[in-house]
Amino acid sequence: MSQRTQHPIAQIVGTYARPYASRFSAGIFLQLLARIPQRVPALVIGVAVDALLIGSAAYTLPLVPDAWIPTGQTAQFWFTVGLLALAVSLRGGLDWLSALLTFGATVDTIHDVRIATYDAVLGLEMGYFDDTGSGSVMSVLNNDVNNLRNLSGALTRAIMFGGQVVVAYAFMLLLNWQLALAVGLFPVVLAGGGRIYSRLLEQRYTRVREQVGSVNDRLGDAIDGISTVKAFTKEAHESRRLAAHSREYLKANWSTVRLRVGFDGFSWSLSNLTHAGLLLFGGFWVLNGPPLFFTRELTAGTLFTFLMYTKSFLAPVRAMSTDVIDAYENGHASAKRVYDTLTETRTVDADDGPDIAVTDGHVAYEDVTFSYTGDGETISGVSFDARPGELVGVVGSTGAGKSTLLKLLFRFYDPDSGTIRIDGRAIQSHSIRSVRDAIGFVSQDPFLFDGTVRENVAYAEPGADHERIVRAAKLAGAHEFITDLDAGYDTEVGERGVLLSGGQRQRIAIARAILHDPDILVFDEATSHVDNETEIRIKESFDSLAADHTTFVIAHRLSTVRDADRILVLDDGELVEEGTHEGLLDRDGIYADLWRVQVGEFDAVSESFVADGGARESGREVGR
Ligand code: ADP
Repeated sequence: MSQRTQHPIAQIVGTYARPYASRFSAGIFLQLLARIPQRVPALVIGVAVDALLIGSAAYTLPLVPDAWIPTGQTAQFWFTVGLLALAVSLRGGLDWLSALLTFGATVDTIHDVRIATYDAVLGLEMGYFDDTGSGSVMSVLNNDVNNLRNLSGALTRAIMFGGQVVVAYAFMLLLNWQLALAVGLFPVVLAGGGRIYSRLLEQRYTRVREQVGSVNDRLGDAIDGISTVKAFTKEAHESRRLAAHSREYLKANWSTVRLRVGFDGFSWSLSNLTHAGLLLFGGFWVLNGPPLFFTRELTAGTLFTFLMYTKSFLAPVRAMSTDVIDAYENGHASAKRVYDTLTETRTVDADDGPDIAVTDGHVAYEDVTFSYTGDGETISGVSFDARPGELVGVVGSTGAGKSTLLKLLFRFYDPDSGTIRIDGRAIQSHSIRSVRDAIGFVSQDPFLFDGTVRENVAYAEPGADHERIVRAAKLAGAHEFITDLDAGYDTEVGERGVLLSGGQRQRIAIARAILHDPDILVFDEATSHVDNETEIRIKESFDSLAADHTTFVIAHRLSTVRDADRILVLDDGELVEEGTHEGLLDRDGIYADLWRVQVGEFDAVSESFVADGGARESGREVGR
């Protein structure tokens, strides 16, 4: 926890830039070193003006022994040219090498941050993804991580400009410390303004980064649901919705632009006033001798050097207070988001207990209650016992809590009260990874990854041999259609498996779960996308699987779970009935009504069932 209170930039730099510290330091050192030759031309030209053009002073250079300086005008002229060429090349070479080192180290650092953030996101729990849209997650991984480049740019430029200012000022003090002190007022005034500016800018950039996430959420939603958008011809509607979010983003951007332009104007005026003041004041000094309380001599050549130095002194001070603060705050807002993601505590490993040892797959729920939001229970006081090797059907209307009930078994969420046990051990006290490892899962909307059929079946065990893959596919009723595909098991399924039908995807996902061979299997509406023939095949595989697995099947089609050893009937989060198909029909409760709807005996459905909204509008679905 204490880590979260530290400065995000310090944390990120301390952790991820440290391995490249030697390259960063060498780059920064060369950067600072280059500032010395950068100041030489103005000095040399000033001296040459006085000595060679006006002839008002001898050719002397600070810190250079007179013995090194040639005598005679022509020799001094060429000496000047040589010095200029040397200074310019030295500066260019040092800057080039420094850029190579710092940019290279930055790119490496950003790569490491991206991988670390990606790993952190993958380790996060479902609750995080419920609260954070996928677009926002993507914007952190993409935009914000890349935006850290701004930060590195700002920091390296701050060091460069800082060096430039210090060196220029040192040269100015050397030339005429009295005039240098007068010019030194400028950065003091600017720094005061810069502080206020920086604070205002930080708030605005935080808002900009949030809006980038929100636009990405909207975009992701529309693209993920593109077939629905097209089917309902809702392109214009989606476009309007995106435009609304984009306008918020634009507003946030505008507010930073206005602030930036305003401050830029302020610093520009201040810089020009300083320059004009120096010209007037210095000109007066050269012509009439030292004014006011000043005592030192000022020659035309020195004034010229001074004016050039002031320029190279004012420019970086201005750049620091505008560009650098801007890039820093921009990068700072991103660094905060990256850091928050890196330090998000809702991780799979957050409350890691010892690994659970599953031997039989005996599942017991004891008075389990759970709510997603804190108000209104999604699961209320559910207790049941699923013995090893049982096939357990979970039925109920849409929204009754069937999926939620089994999400608790995976520890996607933990119950608010009550206990879930596997083989007598409370899963809450065991590591999430080991609990999940004991359970195979096929979701309502199975997800296939871009790759071959083989890779998708062997997702949990990439090294599985061909025989095992084929056996799993046969059990899932998938082998036949797979062998009919162009390249059989080596057929590419496309992103998210788009090249296959819903039923085919589902069967591959079932094969994937079977190959993993855990003690417990959970099928969430696994037969919802398949035709009747495949359903029968899958049902048969449930029966054969159930011999050595405890198998949960969430089903809308009651026929899928007709032969189950135990059927749990959920209504509004409560377990209202439990038994076998026959037993439940005899009981003549909700299950019997659901069954009658399914087999088309609408007249026989009880009035209370209809009054209850067809067990909450489920008629349509159970009748599928
Ligand atoms: P079923 O599988 O029976 O259709 P679910 O378990 O999916 O029902 O949902 C039960 C209730 O919980 C529904 O009212 C649903 O809106 C709500 N719910 C499901 N998932 C979430 C979630 N991630 N956050 C908040 N509420 C949810």
